[in-house]
Amino acid sequence: MGRTVILDNGHGGLINGIYQTPGKRSPNWDKGVLFEGMFNRWVVNRIIEKLDRKKIPYYHISPEFTDTTLETRTNRANHIFDQNPDVWILSIHANAGGGTGIEGFTTLGQKTSDGIGDLVLRNLKDDMIGTSMRFDWSDGDRDKEKDYYILKRPMAPAFLIECGFMDHPIDYNNLWDEIYIDTLVDSLVRSIIEVYNI
Ligand SMILES: [Zn+2]
Repeated sequence: MGRTVILDNGHGGLINGIYQTPGKRSPNWDKGVLFEGMFNRWVVNRIIEKLDRKKIPYYHISPEFTDTTLETRTNRANHIFDQNPDVWILSIHANAGGGTGIEGFTTLGQKTSDGIGDLVLRNLKDDMIGTSMRFDWSDGDRDKEKDYYILKRPMAPAFLIECGFMDHPIDYNNLWDEIYIDTLVDSLVRSIIEVYNI
């Protein structure tokens, strides 16, 4: 039985040009400040368009431009789960703090989310030639494990992807680059369809 994706763009967006979340942004380099919540919405919006075109269903727990609290996101996901337990959460983020490349997280322990996360990361490695993948093989799969709120608290299995480091020069350029974003989105859509059709 396949699972329908629940999309989540991390943090707030821009309202009348004002970013709704403190921090969570790139340095002010040549392309300007990349606001993480703005970028996360670019990715989710592109995913939504591609899923609509392919007639693949989805849910969305953070459609506002305000910074929806993690508790509200979780309550929305649990409300969906009550109606339809065949779901999974894909939470889109960008990183900062030193490093380069893509990494993905699930909650601690071997759960349904580990298989889904591994599938997503495997497809990203195949599709994003030349982008470094920060895999953690210590527990036999590609994802890293952390008990982030959005990974641990919802009933549905959840996977969080960090699409690059906003404060790394190469990643900063990638995160602004539409070809990079489209390649990333196409790969995520491929994974969403594969999980839906399992
Ligand atoms: Zn984030």
